[in-house]
Amino acid sequence: MTECIFCKIARAEMKAQVIYSDEDVVAFRDINPQAPTHVLVIPRKHIPSIADCAPEDLPLLAKLLQTSAKIADMESVREGGYRLVLNAGEDAGQAVDHLHVHVLGGRKMAWPPG
Ligand code: AMP
Repeated sequence: MTECIFCKIARAEMKAQVIYSDEDVVAFRDINPQAPTHVLVIPRKHIPSIADCAPEDLPLLAKLLQTSAKIADMESVREGGYRLVLNAGEDAGQAVDHLHVHVLGGRKMAWPPG
């Protein structure tokens, strides 16, 4: 999966504003932010979407969510509240086929989402 841009960011072959990384996950600022805080949290492992997760990926998924909450704390949006978004597939508008959690905060969110 050498062409995947998020794999490239995870391997530091493509520039991004990385704010957290460890052996399993990487978090970086979205290039086109939709809120004052807009960070993407990805697994280093290439998984196209949540729909492609296997049972053995469950610990990684747990870590992805735990890290997303940690990022919200780091970005000081815990108190005001924040939204975690996982887009899966065309109707949801998924543009990058590498599993990612959007961490959005710093403004009031509308519901239902567009
Ligand atoms: P999605 O629509 O859920 O697939 O979201 C993909 C997100 O990736 C969008 O919010 C884009 O703005 C963001 N994005 C695409 N390329 C980059 C990049 N090189 N660095 C940071 N964010 C990116």
